[in-house]
Amino acid sequence: MIDLPKDLLDRAEQADAQDPMSALRERFLLPPGTIYLDGNSLGALPVGVPKALAAVVEQQWGNGLIGSWTSAGWWEAPARTGELIAPLIGAAPGQVVVTDSTTINIFKAVVAAARLRPDRTVILVDQDTFPTDRYLVDSAARLLGLTVRPVAPDNTTEFGPEVAVAVFSHVDFRTGVLYDLPGITAAAHAAGALVVWDLCHSVGIHPADLDASEVDLAVGCSYKFLNGGPGAPSWVYVAQRHQDALDQPLPGWHGHANPFAMTQEYLPADGIDRMRVGTAPLLSLLGLEAALAAYDGLDIADVRRRSLSLTGLMIDAVDQLIGDLVEVVTPRDESRRGSQVSLRHPHAFPIVQALIARGVVGDYREPDIVRLGVAPLYLSHADIVRSIAELAQVLDTREYLDPVFAVRHVVT
Ligand SMILES: *Cc1c(COP(=O)(O)O)cnc(C)c1O
Repeated sequence: MIDLPKDLLDRAEQADAQDPMSALRERFLLPPGTIYLDGNSLGALPVGVPKALAAVVEQQWGNGLIGSWTSAGWWEAPARTGELIAPLIGAAPGQVVVTDSTTINIFKAVVAAARLRPDRTVILVDQDTFPTDRYLVDSAARLLGLTVRPVAPDNTTEFGPEVAVAVFSHVDFRTGVLYDLPGITAAAHAAGALVVWDLCHSVGIHPADLDASEVDLAVGCSYKFLNGGPGAPSWVYVAQRHQDALDQPLPGWHGHANPFAMTQEYLPADGIDRMRVGTAPLLSLLGLEAALAAYDGLDIADVRRRSLSLTGLMIDAVDQLIGDLVEVVTPRDESRRGSQVSLRHPHAFPIVQALIARGVVGDYREPDIVRLGVAPLYLSHADIVRSIAELAQVLDTREYLDPVFAVRHVVT
């Protein structure tokens, strides 16, 4: 055990004792001795999921067989699970469906949005976006004959009359910067453009208030802060007002108005169901549905409050213990901070490996970022202090210079 700084620990223990949300950790199965700061990459396992998945496999698949499409509600599962996510992002019913991967949904959303502005020629994309988003935007633009312009999302002067759609992340995956979703959306609309918001790093930790901000389309990941499990299908939001005219580019039979009529002509389903494509990965989807029980009864505004308390404490601990050794990249301003703390250091990669060897699991992002994700449902304030005290030890002892920590795997 390392020595923990008493002032920080006292503050942490007081914060944990005062916050009823500290009990939420019981909703998760976590390996003992691990402080898990990677819930923004793969969320932890909610306690009800193993049993729920076993029942899906043994009863619904094993006994129910094909009949489970009806008796177990498999057909409706994408929409049903979408309705569990809707309140977490400020969406009224009928606007969210769980289907496909985030990557696929971004493509569908970008093309569908551009088709709603057929007389315009430019797609704006966040210049620092998660690469998959950029690859898809570039390909969509080639298909549609449009031009891509990479920009900083908060530079709203980029919205000219030529812009059809902007594709922006709510929270930057690398730095943890939170963008002004309502303000940017309003600026886009004032110029007649639409925005596709990528909520991968904000869903489950921030009340995005999509309806109140009149967001057009949004996409998000289910296996990060929503804890849906590896490869859980993603969700897509389309505002009610756009649904009737929506022409998405992967028309599959599950998005058909009458799928079992088996007609050669595609007739899109009414409402959000037209964003569906083919058969859902049901084991993953039903695992996500069970995982969302971890959010039962929670107000996402309270989750946000706890997230800011935890990340604020983490930044203070960094300042106090290692402020001269790392640069805090994530904004100190709460209104611009997602639920992670990113630290810059030239030896970031081996530092993360040394930290993992001490039971503190964060991750590394190119080129020099130690990324510490803060999942407010299962981390305590005491965990935060311990993790930064361990990081201070890694830096003070320079144990990260040990060659064992230099070995790179495919997944960093
Ligand atoms: C995690 C993440 C993805 C992942 O997409 P997959 O299709 O699930 O692999 C895409 N975009 C952003 C911004 C992400 O953070």
